[in-house]
Amino acid sequence: MAEDYYKLLGVDKSASQDEIKAKFRELAKKYHPDVNAGSKEAETKFKEIAEAYEVLSDPKKRQQYDATGSTDFGGGGTSGSNFNWQDFSHFDDINDIFNKIFGGGGFGGGNDTFFGGYSNQPDLNIYVRVNITLEDAYYGSARQVKYKRNATCDACNGTGAVNGKLITCPTCRGSGQERVTRGQGFFQVVSVTTCRTCNGRGKIPQNPCPTCKGTGYIPKMENLTVNIPKGADTNVKLRVAKMGNSFGGVTGDLYTVLYVQGNSGIKRSGDHLYIKASIDFPTAALGGEEEIPLFKEKFRLDIPSGTQPDDVLRIKGAGMPHINSRGSGDLLVVIKLEVPKHLTSKEKELIEELKSEPVKKSWFHI
Ligand SMILES: [Zn+2]
Ligand SMILES: [Zn+2]
Repeated sequence: MAEDYYKLLGVDKSASQDEIKAKFRELAKKYHPDVNAGSKEAETKFKEIAEAYEVLSDPKKRQQYDATGSTDFGGGGTSGSNFNWQDFSHFDDINDIFNKIFGGGGFGGGNDTFFGGYSNQPDLNIYVRVNITLEDAYYGSARQVKYKRNATCDACNGTGAVNGKLITCPTCRGSGQERVTRGQGFFQVVSVTTCRTCNGRGKIPQNPCPTCKGTGYIPKMENLTVNIPKGADTNVKLRVAKMGNSFGGVTGDLYTVLYVQGNSGIKRSGDHLYIKASIDFPTAALGGEEEIPLFKEKFRLDIPSGTQPDDVLRIKGAGMPHINSRGSGDLLVVIKLEVPKHLTSKEKELIEELKSEPVKKSWFHI
């Protein structure tokens, strides 16, 4: 049994679609994993609210949910257990939120003249989040990115019209916008929204293309290989041009947004990596050499005599490669001192002897 979707979003059962949308946006911004890096709790919460929103924002699904309390919508439906939160490409609101978080500018970034002055252009870019490990970032990697997009209909070149013939939309007379009046008399509210007849294009097909039913696009699953560069970091966006959504003959881009997962043994700070290494007392006191493993590499570290616990020793250029330039950050080794728990009688004897050495006695009385 799914959780109460209304409770999850914090809305009443009677909430309007606008209220649900507003509440979802608010919560999604708060719990988005990229503003709560590493928080499992936020990630879980985000999945839950996204799932709740997907059901409640769809009048048909909401009706069924209200009637049966069930989220099992039959084949192809999005039920709780197999909800794939990375596949948000079909989900305009989430793309919108990604945009706000990542500062995507849509195409051209402004109110251009694609649709005759239409000032409310949809964002045609698609954002897909991909998790990678620190090791993937260190060596570079490749990932398959599967997502759904609206691809240009080839039959009509994306115009939605047979022979590409469009006529001015009779509802909005070409403005792409529509005035909607709500309420009555004194309480009347007039708002301007996207024209529902032409979806803001200002034009409609004279004869709708039979292949795409006049929309100009066809839903399509894509499966792309995206190369992840060495030195990649969280929130790095990798762009594949013209692989976003298509609308009105214009196609957006695909952005793969990276999230580098934490590593329990290695900390990253920019392109420097921190790692801990334990050395024994004789090496710390006399100096020596250690081999430091990092992923598939092994680096030689010179230990100067008199090295102290928590000293940080630097291996230049052994850290994370710089993403857009030559060279790498450094590997910083935090020294820990290993004290043996069990000693052989010979070892015990030697340490006793050292302890009885008058000059060095202070070593053992810190
Ligand atoms: Zn119109
Ligand atoms: Zn078509």
